[in-house]
Amino acid sequence: RFSTAVASEEPIVPPVQIQDTQLLINGQFVDAASGKTFPTLDPRTGEVIAHVAESDVEDVNLAVSAARKAFDEGPWPKMTAYKRSQIILRFADLVEKHSDELAALETWNNGKTYEQAANVDVPMLIRIFRYYAGWADKIHGLTVPADGLHHVQTLHEPIGVAGQIVPWNFPLLIYAWKVAPALACGNTVVLKTAEQTPLSALYVSKLFHEAGLPPGVLNVISGFGPTSGAALASHMDVDKLAFTGSTETGKIVLQLAAKSNLKPVTLELGGKSPFIVCEDADVDKAVELAHSALFFNQGQCCCAGSRTFVHERVYDEFVEKAKARALKRVVGDPFKKGVEQGPQIDSGQFKKILKYIRSGIESGATLESGGERFGSKGYYIQPTVFSNVQDNMLIAKDEIFGPVQSILKFKDLDEVIQRANMTRYGLAAGVFTQNLDTANTMMRALRAGTVWINCFDVFDAAIPFGGYKMSGQGRVRGIYSLSSYLQVKAVVTALKNPAW
Ligand code: NAD
Repeated sequence: RFSTAVASEEPIVPPVQIQDTQLLINGQFVDAASGKTFPTLDPRTGEVIAHVAESDVEDVNLAVSAARKAFDEGPWPKMTAYKRSQIILRFADLVEKHSDELAALETWNNGKTYEQAANVDVPMLIRIFRYYAGWADKIHGLTVPADGLHHVQTLHEPIGVAGQIVPWNFPLLIYAWKVAPALACGNTVVLKTAEQTPLSALYVSKLFHEAGLPPGVLNVISGFGPTSGAALASHMDVDKLAFTGSTETGKIVLQLAAKSNLKPVTLELGGKSPFIVCEDADVDKAVELAHSALFFNQGQCCCAGSRTFVHERVYDEFVEKAKARALKRVVGDPFKKGVEQGPQIDSGQFKKILKYIRSGIESGATLESGGERFGSKGYYIQPTVFSNVQDNMLIAKDEIFGPVQSILKFKDLDEVIQRANMTRYGLAAGVFTQNLDTANTMMRALRAGTVWINCFDVFDAAIPFGGYKMSGQGRVRGIYSLSSYLQVKAVVTALKNPAW
């Protein structure tokens, strides 16, 4: 059924050596205090790539105290903002120099295509660091015209030690969303990578130190959520927590933060984003964009357009074309040129997705393509399309996080707005129409942190991103992210002379 690459062929040997597998604490690579390690796997085969150090409470304590010292004693927060920006820019240059190796490492550990890692993930990381390096020396407070004999000003100060917990779907990109604004504002960081994908963050963080980052400013630990992640979220000396992951874990870390020192928390969580194709849409373009909105990154995107609503007048044509497009999708070794879809991240996700596919079939949706594993090795899944999906089916309600497109039919705008908003999530939405009034109505009516009109997945360092409802709290990227890494101090000075 699929035109080129075949997953069961021998996997390509990645052009990169694994060097960094320990914890990066206080500028040094060190073993875990317990001496424990855990295997990190190649999703193409399930085979071990390397054993990495497994952090736990003791290592989190060491990393937080290194970050605390680097914050309290400097030089990072006290250094001129210009000098900080220069170190961040030097880091971006170094990443650019090592882009190929880094993209290979990301593909090897995550399963995303090398073409994507090299053309999207790594260049976007570089872009985000350069963007926030530009902000470092433009962060300043206000002079406030208060009543009375007072001179009032605000100082925008870094918060302190930022704890950051990231997922596996975009290990480098989300690292950039988290680390870049935190460091640009003068904070210090302890970042815990996802247990599935520890390698690329260690690689780039070593480059950061080569670029002149002082020890203790950025500490990177590998480990599991309930141990290392929970220790970070509940640490009394962490001043701010930034989390990206599932809504369920988001609730846990918010509670841990509240129960410990009430550290402020930003959350980027799951989604079930509507992709709405109106009757006047350019159908061919909408089919292609709906396809990539769902299948990009193996369907493992928090903002995936996972509920494709299509107007009844163009529905049959759309379904036919969406099915044809999915059948043409090239699945195979992500290192191969021309491959569009690699394996899912791990066996847990692989099984979960197949279970959702079975549930779609059992609940009466029409299976148009795919529906099974692809090949016999690793965690590949066929690009799957369901039509005749109803709002109350599990595949229309839950975040599947895999290559499963659900197509639903609608009749009019009010109806689709109501149905699109009928979800606990509110991360993103896409609208396809050539009617300006429809676009204007939809952009206001949809309860989502991003509304894309006649486009989807447009990411830019300057565009804020975040969720309504249970998709999160706060925003990453753009100017909006800075406020979550800054304290505002009001300074009120008595004036002697009313005339001046
Ligand atoms: P996850 O919640 O299982 O894990 C995310 C991180 O949390 C990992 O580092 C994990 O080790 C850690 N963790 C797990 N349990 C923990 C605990 N008890 N205490 C502290 N930390 C803990 O999510 P995942 O499966 O890795 O990622 C997929 C999810 O992430 C999806 O729901 C996706 O939508 C979401 N996501 C959201 C965005 C966004 O910007 N909104 C971006 C990417 C991914």
